[in-house]
Amino acid sequence: MSITTDTTSMESKGGATPAEVLRAEARTAHNYHPLPVVLAQAEGAWMTDIDGRRFLDMLAGYSALNFGHGHPRLIAAAHAQLDRLTLTSRAFVHDAFADFTAGLGDLCGKELVLPMNTGAEAVETAIKVSRKWGYDVKGVAADSARIIVAAGNFHGRTTTIVGFSDDPDARDGFGPFAPGFDQVAYGDLAALEAAITPDTVAVLIEPIQGEAGVLIPPDGYLRGVREICTRHNVLFVADEIQAGLGRTGRTFACDHEDVVPDLYVLGKALGGGVVPVSAVVGDREVLGVLKPGQHGSTFGGNPLACAVGSEVVAMLASGEYQSRAAELGLVLRERLDAMIDKGVVAVRSRGLWAGIDIDPAIGSGREVCERLMARGVLAKDTHGSTIRLAPPLVISAEDLQWGLDQLAAVLA
Ligand SMILES: *Cc1c(COP(=O)(O)O)cnc(C)c1O
Repeated sequence: MSITTDTTSMESKGGATPAEVLRAEARTAHNYHPLPVVLAQAEGAWMTDIDGRRFLDMLAGYSALNFGHGHPRLIAAAHAQLDRLTLTSRAFVHDAFADFTAGLGDLCGKELVLPMNTGAEAVETAIKVSRKWGYDVKGVAADSARIIVAAGNFHGRTTTIVGFSDDPDARDGFGPFAPGFDQVAYGDLAALEAAITPDTVAVLIEPIQGEAGVLIPPDGYLRGVREICTRHNVLFVADEIQAGLGRTGRTFACDHEDVVPDLYVLGKALGGGVVPVSAVVGDREVLGVLKPGQHGSTFGGNPLACAVGSEVVAMLASGEYQSRAAELGLVLRERLDAMIDKGVVAVRSRGLWAGIDIDPAIGSGREVCERLMARGVLAKDTHGSTIRLAPPLVISAEDLQWGLDQLAAVLA
């Protein structure tokens, strides 16, 4: 067999592409277009590449690294568990499981936790639970349950999930898709209520649309969704995978409107940047519909995941990280607002999380991120001319200011 390699897609305009980038690209499917940096080490908010150059992480693994790289508490929890017990499968009970489920349930104010691994799996789990609840509790006729989703949604990459996306890149070429989903405009309560039928079992939304560009719905939207769902006996499923666990300055993005969904869908930061940990969290009357054999995951709720997840929950229970996100978020917002009409067209932010629409005359979002990288800042574009900033919540105020100085310089 002859092996051909195509590395043309990695050739950037700014000179030779590092050999290690070409090597990485040579033998992988091109489902990503990474910035041409090769990272070797990281601590807190800083990453170091193979040549010893340092970069400020202003993406934090899309919120998976809310606590920064190598947080001592998380690494210690992982090390201690690694030396003891890593995997049992759920065929047996292990001694890190109960602490995790009780801790996470308490953090959410809910009775039950169903642990999975990736975010997409947790969303799939929430879809299954919602349908089962629809049939067993609400009394919807077999195989006719419907779930309402929002335009512009991002809930992951499985075939069912991309089937109810309206992003052509995510969706086109991957059908046929699972039926049973209805899409309405994000932020439009009248459209949401009009889409509800007797077969509707759930409304699945992101309380802030991250991938779409950190889109924050109008004030009162989440409260309205809660009220409509309650009135029509429909589950409110909040995908807090990216927005939740401290990012917005509260434990959950729904907290900003004092709203409690029926199901929280969590992931990313739940694994502390160490292991993939996701979960669906809800009360017994909803999650209790699942019986043995009806759902599962070989790795879901494994001892290592539970040990790290428990430490994440303990760290969040102190409120310290939420406060940091809220305080640093004010700094972030003030600096970004000052860039409006200086290369920035619009800013949306909540806590330490911002979507910044760049003046297209400055360059594409990708080009701005390449220029930021040249100045030692790593960030990620989305949808053409939008930049997302989501630094680790442990970033210092000085480092945050420095990172924003680099953005201002790039836009000048
Ligand atoms: C990242 C993300 C997912 C998917 O998580 P994976 O771990 O990549 O499967 C789902 N929903 C939202 C809101 C996300 O940001």
